[in-house]
Amino acid sequence: MPPNRRAKRRPLEIIHTAEWMRLASREASVAARVVGLIPTMGALHDGHFSLIRAARGQCSPVVVSIFVNPLQFGANEDFGKYPLTMEKDRTALESLGVDYLFAPESSEMYPPGFRTSIHVEGLSERLEGRSRPGHFQGVATVVLKLMEIVQPNFCYFGRKDAQQIRIVRQMVRDLDIASEVVDCPIVREPDGLAMSSRNEYLNNDERVAATGLHRSLKRARENISHGERNPGQLLGEIREILEREPLLRVDYAEIVDVHTLEPVVKLRGECLILLAVFSGRTRLIDNALITESGRSFVVTI
Ligand code: AMP
Repeated sequence: MPPNRRAKRRPLEIIHTAEWMRLASREASVAARVVGLIPTMGALHDGHFSLIRAARGQCSPVVVSIFVNPLQFGANEDFGKYPLTMEKDRTALESLGVDYLFAPESSEMYPPGFRTSIHVEGLSERLEGRSRPGHFQGVATVVLKLMEIVQPNFCYFGRKDAQQIRIVRQMVRDLDIASEVVDCPIVREPDGLAMSSRNEYLNNDERVAATGLHRSLKRARENISHGERNPGQLLGEIREILEREPLLRVDYAEIVDVHTLEPVVKLRGECLILLAVFSGRTRLIDNALITESGRSFVVTI
């Protein structure tokens, strides 16, 4: 990797076209600067900001993309009402010292006649993919396009979307993409709810019920620390906690191997507890990483 020669910071530049973004990025690479990309759909919160701070520590310039990607939404999902807070986002990016905001129109990313999509086989069909058919094809396609346009040295993702990270890593490896995927910890509200742009949809009661996801993961951590190793038992108690909340409806709760995303019969190596739960009509996801460490397990929530 080339040394990161920090150029003097300039004000945030907003770019709407792929061509201009590519030029700006290429100019930075030619000057031996380290380019960082954080793909987002906007409505930015502290979760996104933590990715930006991680990027700022390693990269200059830092590019944040805001693009509500139609390809990753199902027909009955919230594409039409996904929160848009561009002005607020722009101000936040400015104060965080971001160099470029790449905010293309849909027609810029998918001009008439667009036909190609990326499918990461085997990892895309389960869990989120089963509940949201085509979702990961949309994600992989847009992430590859963004990586092609920006050509980042580092590309930052949140562990909140654990399956997404696994799929992006696979795509990067399979397609020889010269970007390093960096994953960042889940940022939570003080009461434990994982931050998400979709939390804005929750009414007061749904917001209170939504803390059940974090509570159930904490219970699993407690049980594991007391020696429980049986995924069935752990999931039973997770479901019990979630189902106690009348406003919650479990879509899935699974314990899977980090690499295959297949359910495990016994905790081993690295596993994920993955949850997708509706609070009212809002679908929330959360997870915990279980890492074998000698004879014990560390659970990161
Ligand atoms: P989104 O705008 O929801 O597509 O998210 C953009 C990026 O921010 C993804 O890599 C997410 O995983 C990450 N992200 C979203 N919420 C959080 C969070 N609470 N903590 C850490 N990363 C997050």
